[in-house]
Amino acid sequence: MSIRVIAIDGPAASGKSSTAAAVARRLGWAHLDSGALYRAITLAALDNVRDPLKDDLTVAADERREAWSPQRLVALAEDLPVRLVLVGDAFRPEVAGVDVENAIRSPRVTARVSEIAAIPEVRHWVNVQQREAVMTHPQGVVVDGRDIGTVVFPDAPLKVFLTATPDERARRRLAQRGDRVDPAELQRESDALGARDLADATRRVAPLRSAADAVLLDTTQLSMEEQVARVVTLARQRFPH
Ligand code: C5P
Repeated sequence: MSIRVIAIDGPAASGKSSTAAAVARRLGWAHLDSGALYRAITLAALDNVRDPLKDDLTVAADERREAWSPQRLVALAEDLPVRLVLVGDAFRPEVAGVDVENAIRSPRVTARVSEIAAIPEVRHWVNVQQREAVMTHPQGVVVDGRDIGTVVFPDAPLKVFLTATPDERARRRLAQRGDRVDPAELQRESDALGARDLADATRRVAPLRSAADAVLLDTTQLSMEEQVARVVTLARQRFPH
């Protein structure tokens, strides 16, 4: 039997998580935002481990090298622990038993998450968590991220790659935060999204890209309702029962 997973990938602020959550609700499935796990590990590292960017050169080189080492980060994720907890129909991130769904959206986490997500050992750990979460929910899970269709669930019967122009994504991100949408802010946000996409698309391990068999959906001209409806229609075709 094929796995009941819908993989939704795409660049930052392409509407993946909102779409995935709405599709999951309509189908009676669960939603898993894989970016939330990378963000939760980043938050845990910022709060618990010496930040290599802020390193004081008087500290011994060995200790500095240890700072954000792969082993240190994975041990931290295991020990705190960082984990996903199913609440209602969504897997939510927790650090040391505390729900961090809001804390992981802060600018200090956003600015550093791509660096942490480029570490192969961290990716391996996150992938194990995702596969375990899906096993606990056989009714079906809509998973969104960057490498879900290419690496984490290459056998997902439905893969969608969402895109939108950088300007439109920046506009949506500002609107979502309730910030003013003036041209200078728009440019700043668009540059920040562009830098994160470049880092995610050019890393050596599991770069952001569309799976060969993904359905491409450019949402620049679509409303949220329209894009959700398109994915739900595809889902009903691919998962008739
Ligand atoms: O989806 P979101 O923007 O919250 O993801 C935050 C970051 O986590 C991305 O910029 C990317 O570096 C990383 N990520 C990833 N692979 C995923 C999901 C997120 O590398 N599947």
